[in-house]
Parts: sequence; C-alpha cells; structure tokens
Amino acid sequence: MKHIRLRKNNLCVENIAALKLAKIYKTPFYCYSLRQLQDNYQALKDSFKSINPLICFSIKSNSNIKLLNELKKMGAGADVVSVGELLKAKKAGIKSNKIVFSGVGKTEEEIHMAVRKRVLLINVESENEVNLINKIAKRASRKIAIGIRLNPNITGKTHKKISTGGKQEKFGLTQNDFLNLCKKIKKMKNLNLEGISVHIGSQITNIEPFKKVLMVINKIIKKTQINFKFIDLGGGMGISYLKNEKPMNIKQYAKLINKFLKNKDSKIIFEPGRFIIGNVAILISKIIYIKKSAGKRFVVLDAGMNDLMRPALYDAYHQIIPLKKTNKLLKGNIEFVGPICESSDRFSTEKKFQKIKEGDYISLANVGAYGMSLSSNYNTRPFIAEIMVSGSKHKVIRKRQSLKNLVNN
Ligand SMILES: *Cc1c(COP(=O)(O)O)cnc(C)c1O
Repeated sequence: MKHIRLRKNNLCVENIAALKLAKIYKTPFYCYSLRQLQDNYQALKDSFKSINPLICFSIKSNSNIKLLNELKKMGAGADVVSVGELLKAKKAGIKSNKIVFSGVGKTEEEIHMAVRKRVLLINVESENEVNLINKIAKRASRKIAIGIRLNPNITGKTHKKISTGGKQEKFGLTQNDFLNLCKKIKKMKNLNLEGISVHIGSQITNIEPFKKVLMVINKIIKKTQINFKFIDLGGGMGISYLKNEKPMNIKQYAKLINKFLKNKDSKIIFEPGRFIIGNVAILISKIIYIKKSAGKRFVVLDAGMNDLMRPALYDAYHQIIPLKKTNKLLKGNIEFVGPICESSDRFSTEKKFQKIKEGDYISLANVGAYGMSLSSNYNTRPFIAEIMVSGSKHKVIRKRQSLKNLVNN
C-alpha cells in the first residue's frame, strides 16, 4: 500500500490523514486511493507489455461504478459473472469487445443479454450450456464466440475455499471432456470456438501452479490442433496480506508466458481482480467497547463481518493499523471483533498492540478486493459508504445506505 502509509505517526491515504476522514464521514467506511489503483493497473500493464494482453478486471472483486469508470479510462476490460455485472461494466463505459462472460451457472436470461450486448467471449463450463447458447444464437441468427473453461486439475497453494482448479471442484471441464466438447462444437453452426480459459483460484503467490497450467494448456492445444484466437489465463495473482508475504512475481509470470507463446498467435486475456484492487483500500472503523473477559481483551469495532466478510468466510487476515500510531504497548493478546451476533464475527488476534481506548479509530488493511462486494445487510445493518481519495481531495463514491431505505425494503 504505497499510497496508504504512516507519515509521522499518522496513517495517510495519499495526502490526507485518515483520522481527518474518520471525523468527517460516519464510520465504518471503505476508503480508496485512486493513485494506488492507477499504479497497480499500470504496473500490470508494464510487466506484460511484450504480451500486450487484454486485461479484463474481475468485477466481482469490486463493483463500485466510479472505480470501474477509472479502470475503463485506463483501458481495462471486464470479466463478468452475472447479468448485473455485465450491465454495470457497460454502465461504466466498458466496450462489449472488452468483456468476457464467465461463470458455471449462466441462466438463459444471462446468455440472452450476453448475446444481445455482443460480448467478446462467453466462457462455457458445460456441454448443456453450449447447447443452450447454440439454440439462442440460432434464434437470433447469429454466430457467437465462445471459449471453454478447462479444469487443469492443478490447485494453487491457497485457502481451500478460494481454490477452483482441482478436479473435485465444480469449475470447468476435465481434459477429456474438453477434447470431446471441442469436436461437438465444430459441428454447431452458430458457435465459433475461439477461446480456451482457465482460472485455478485466488490469492496465489507462487509461480509454480501457473507454470503447470501453461504446460497443461500447451498439451491440450496440441491435441485439439485448434488455433485458439484467445487464451484466457484467468486471475488469481496474489498480493501481500501478511508482513512476510511476497506478492506474486508478475515479471516472472510474463517471462513464462512469453516462452509459452512461441509459435502461437493467440491473444492473452487476464482476469485479475485482487491484484488490481486489493491493496487500494482500508476499512476505517471506530472502537465501540473494550471488554475484558476470561483473561482476554475484546475490542469491539463498529465494523462487522457483514461489512467485511473475508475473515469469517476464508479465515483471511487483514492487518489492523491504528489511525494514530503511539509507542505505548498493551500487554497480552487482544481480539478485534465486530458487533454481529455470530461467533465468527472476529477479525484478528493481535499481540503487542499499541494502547488503544474506546472512541479511537483503527483501520483494516488491504480490503479493496472482496470487501464491499461481499458485504451484506445481515443484522439489518445498512451498506456502508465508500470514499475515494485523490491527492488532497476526497469524495463519496458510494453513499452509505440510508436507514429509511434499509427499513422499507
Ligand atoms: C474470481 C475470478 C477471477 C478473479 O480472481 P482474482 O483472484 O481476484 O484475480 C477471475 N476469473 C474468474 C473466472 C473468477 O471466478
């Protein structure tokens, strides 16, 4: 988080002290750095310069329209997994020829919309889905470009709930099924088989699984003898959540892909979410109570698992950073929890944390990806606001849901 960092003991988002924002906006809220978003996207583009890929931002990781708009300005496409995401990508101004539609359970309505909007590629995950698309394409007298998602039976070393590339998972087709489906599609008049796609999981920081995936794709392309127009390598590139965790080495990844592309003229597509947006935001929250119980100290925040689900859902760790740093330390462990009536509503246990008191503010780090987009109204709590900082300016990019709106729905 280069643009979100401590400056003279104050946590700053670009040029603004987070504490100042906490006093202006009602906590809890998400706070984004525009510069960080731009830097991340540019770094990705630069690292893959020689490949010149189409970068389709995974909308499910963060679907804020203003952020999508910024990404669009930089040239990003979109990876969508629902009709809602498709319409949001369009609304952000992203052109259809930069949109890929993924997902294991596209409904007839969603396929209709994808056809109508003329997306670049529909990545299919089953034979029955292929039949349905062919039927819809026929009725519309159109020829539709599709890709097949391969299940390479390779798992990235990551949490089991965000691993998608093993053969026991519901995603994609096994190599044999893939080959059989290619033959069937060849005979379908309203479909063009243009792509092969993979996505083995999320938050992968090690290059090895990606290396293996490229080998499997190579093998299968040889077997099909199809000159795929697109090779969609999905997302999954990991970032650094823990102090000693290194983000995925994308320069090394670029080298591997360059080698892989020898004797091929396919266009590479990426679908990164977390790598672009993960470290762009913090969640700012206030300490409501500090409660001692059974020799433990619980710090109860005004942010809960409904606002940030990742710790409860994936045992994810988000570093807790006070908005004002001091050098006085507390003894013993302290546990940061939310106000929700669930025991899984806990964020983390910290050792040697600085002295804090009720009414102080803290932030949860690296919450840009799968933060707001996974949030809910559980416990009938309103969706919280999203704020964007650019230089010394700040603005609301999504208003906090009003109680009236919440209560009437
Ligand atoms: C979730 C998802 C992505 C994005 O994953 P990240 O780990 O955020 O990069 C890309 N492609 C597909 C098909 C996905 O389901």
